[in-house]
Amino acid sequence: MEKEVLLEVKDLHTSFNVPSGEVRSVNGVSFTLRRGEVLGIVGESGSGKSVTAYSVMQILEKPGRVIGGSIKFKGQELLGLPNKQLQRIRGKNISIIFQDSMSSLNPVWSIGNQLREAVKIHEDSEHKKNRKARIAELKAEIKAKETEFANNPEEKEKTIAPLKQELHDQVNFAQKRALEMLRLVGINEPEKRLKQYPFEHSGGMLQRVMIAMALINEPDLIIADEPTTALDVTIQAQILELLIDLQKRLNVGIIIITHDLGVVAQICHRVNVMYAGRIVETGTVDDIFYNPQHEYTKGLINSIPKAGKRADKLEPIPGNPVDVFTLPSGCSFAPRCKNCMKVCLKKFPKFIQVGDDHYTACFKYLEKLYQEGKIKEEDFDKYIDSCEEGNKAFSRISRLDVEKAYQDYLSKKAENTAKIGDNASSKDEIEAARYQIRDAKLEYRRAKRDFAYAIKERHTGGKERLSIDKNDVHKKIKHHKVEIGTKAPNMSADEFNAYLETLVISTTPVNPNASKEAVQEAKNNLKVARKNYAAQKKVSREEKVKALTEIDAAKEKVAQSKRDLVWFNYIEKKMLSTKKALARIYEKKKGE
Ligand code: SF4
Repeated sequence: MEKEVLLEVKDLHTSFNVPSGEVRSVNGVSFTLRRGEVLGIVGESGSGKSVTAYSVMQILEKPGRVIGGSIKFKGQELLGLPNKQLQRIRGKNISIIFQDSMSSLNPVWSIGNQLREAVKIHEDSEHKKNRKARIAELKAEIKAKETEFANNPEEKEKTIAPLKQELHDQVNFAQKRALEMLRLVGINEPEKRLKQYPFEHSGGMLQRVMIAMALINEPDLIIADEPTTALDVTIQAQILELLIDLQKRLNVGIIIITHDLGVVAQICHRVNVMYAGRIVETGTVDDIFYNPQHEYTKGLINSIPKAGKRADKLEPIPGNPVDVFTLPSGCSFAPRCKNCMKVCLKKFPKFIQVGDDHYTACFKYLEKLYQEGKIKEEDFDKYIDSCEEGNKAFSRISRLDVEKAYQDYLSKKAENTAKIGDNASSKDEIEAARYQIRDAKLEYRRAKRDFAYAIKERHTGGKERLSIDKNDVHKKIKHHKVEIGTKAPNMSADEFNAYLETLVISTTPVNPNASKEAVQEAKNNLKVARKNYAAQKKVSREEKVKALTEIDAAKEKVAQSKRDLVWFNYIEKKMLSTKKALARIYEKKKGE
């Protein structure tokens, strides 16, 4: 029988507004979690895994915001729910275990206070009503028994004791629950621990307290954000065992966010591999560990130490972690991928089915299917045509955004000034109208300031970020020389030529269309845009802004085409000299 679907996330987009533009930290993420399932979300820092979790919980800090998609919990849409309803769901139905338990717990409240508070806040009105009624009943019953057995103290004590115990439990129901939970997560002397403060506990104990707090209201779903990162190895194992045990006993759904593949292998049923805000591969744990198809997943698997393999033989993933500001327009992993192809720099791959429940977003896998004759050429082309062009991980703030904020301010001002001047408006309505105008004005000012910052950055920092990283190229060339030096004795001439064919000496992609003509064309387009502005500037504000935006874009294209050309020439020159050097090493090693 199919298990109940707890969480259904579809095409989730979360962005952060920074002064130079908008960063998409989560870019079209979709997944489903069923009851009793443990889903791992893996990826390096900045891949968007924690932002995905915080988007589900809707606890993103400003300026983060969910800008699109759907998050359904047991069929109920969470996006757009009023804050009060969300608060009821958080903690009661969905709980989160944070990475750093020390800073997640209140240092001036005892552990008991914090656990009791978590129970009391989420006690629903029905339960509260029934509990109060039962307390009243018990008090009346005790009173009646006291009168009935007034002359028989022994019998009175025997009859009243269980009633008193129940009354005590009902009154202190939160305390009882807190004790139960501390026992469940394996904390010794729970009565004593409840009176203590967070600083009196070790990291492992605090993490257990956090788990107790997450489970105290019997949620259906737990999100654990790097639950074991801050702990030492032995405690990590205990916490993982505890989570597995609790998941089996309570049949909850768990999402584990981690960069540690060891944790995933130990506890998860399914895995989503994330890179630069997108899921690049998804499948069961066996699919991901024994049959990875995305180049990034392969890199992650190859970089785990394996039994019997020396640590110096580990293969790290080349390049630096994700920088959303310099991602290529195609696959985000392209700058670090040793199998990167031309198409990878232009288009973003869509999911291709690998197995029953296994999908990957990688052109290399498509090429493999084609080479093995599993798909036809037309299917190959059709797939590539259907992939989107342009990476939307970062979009610069433009003049149009400023204009939009300005128009918004004007319309809010017109609409609300009427309300302020209307005698029929109440005091509250006038106050709200004033706030609306003020907020729109502040938003417009912010957009203007951010745009000015972005323009300045394009002329300074932006250029630097895209400038040539020669160190990186030198490192790669050195790596190839060492590799050929060791592999040459067992390498045939054909294998060596194939090696040279696929040689990659830079983690920054090269634009294959870079040329002097491309720079000239960009300059011509800039001239046209300027002429257009001269003709349009007196027509209307709207046309003027549009024409200025075109000039901004044309200027950016000129700068980009110049940078592309410099990079193209440099890499071409280096590639030639590297191939010659590698050929020399190959010949020499073969001759030895
Ligand atoms: S799509 Fe291309 S660049 Fe991206 S991981 Fe696959 S082969 Fe590498």
